[in-house]
Amino acid sequence: MRIAFFSTQPYDRQYFNRYNEKHEITYFDLRLNEQTVNLAAGNEAVCVFVNDKLDEKVLKQLKELGIRLVALRCAGYNNVDLITARSLGMTVLRVPAYSPHAVAEHAVALIMALNRKTHKAYNRIREGNFSLDKLTGFDLYGKTVGVIGTGKIGEVFASIMLGFGCRVIAYDVARNRLLEEKGVEYVELPVLFNQSDIVSLHCPLNSHTHHLINAANLGQMKKGAMLVNTSRGGLIDTPAVIEALKNGQLGYLGMDVYEQEEKLFFYNLSEEIIEDDQILRLMSFPNVMITAHQGFFTDEALTQIATVTLRNIDDFEEGRELENRVE
Ligand code: NAD
Repeated sequence: MRIAFFSTQPYDRQYFNRYNEKHEITYFDLRLNEQTVNLAAGNEAVCVFVNDKLDEKVLKQLKELGIRLVALRCAGYNNVDLITARSLGMTVLRVPAYSPHAVAEHAVALIMALNRKTHKAYNRIREGNFSLDKLTGFDLYGKTVGVIGTGKIGEVFASIMLGFGCRVIAYDVARNRLLEEKGVEYVELPVLFNQSDIVSLHCPLNSHTHHLINAANLGQMKKGAMLVNTSRGGLIDTPAVIEALKNGQLGYLGMDVYEQEEKLFFYNLSEEIIEDDQILRLMSFPNVMITAHQGFFTDEALTQIATVTLRNIDDFEEGRELENRVE
């Protein structure tokens, strides 16, 4: 099958070239959007990532170009207008799970670094500064961790935090029995915000969860609590979080995703003028750690993404049952 890959980075090419045996792939660095959609001409499928924009207009243009398949090489599909895709008879496939451990462990890495300030210690030592002043952290043991969304990633994350000796409470629209058996207690959201020392987000972005973290529930959180978002940027109302950091209500913020990330993340902008004032403000706080959507970025996950995406495309081409279809 001829496939146009959008938003590709060197590591995408490396892993897909390693596992691709029969498809004709054209790689583009560019994001898929209204301006770039014509690049898909001559292909039968597009393969896209988290920040490609497949809205009504783009999907209709893709259809006109003869595209029959959208193969997402990620789990989340909030960037695809599924209603339009369905009405156009286009198939959308995804990689529902590619090492939930990768993302869950990255959430833990953010917590550990924010708490014990290892990034600051590393820089201090390199400059010959062996002082411990202002590096005080806290024991995770005995702290209450609130997990919002206890699906594949939330389950792994909650289990790791139980291993630290934390009390884990959770909120989800559906309960996870395995976690309940391990001692996780489900509570309503206000209780979770009120009792947690650390809140970690692992639910999808949709109309119910958009700006789930806003001024009202930041006010319900324990003063000085830590918030970690490795899920999707749109879960957080960024100006509200900046305000909570400024007034000390929020003690720490770890974020691997950002609502306006599509213009920033995955690019080297070190020689550019960054126009996004909100990210610049966030970057200026000493108690904020930002990573550029790297939660998934492990060898195991990249292998899984490439092999499952290619298998999805094979299944479609050969008319087999589509296990990973997005309905
Ligand atoms: P999943 O579908 O297994 O779990 C999501 C959970 O959220 C489910 O248990 C679901 O019931 C719950 N949920 C749905 N609506 C909710 C609501 N309104 N309130 C609370 N919970 C709700 O998904 P997953 O594989 O665990 O992934 C979770 C999210 O992580 C994805 O949606 C994606 O946005 C994000 N993600 C980020 C990265 C990264 O690199 N940072 C990588 C993969 C996935």
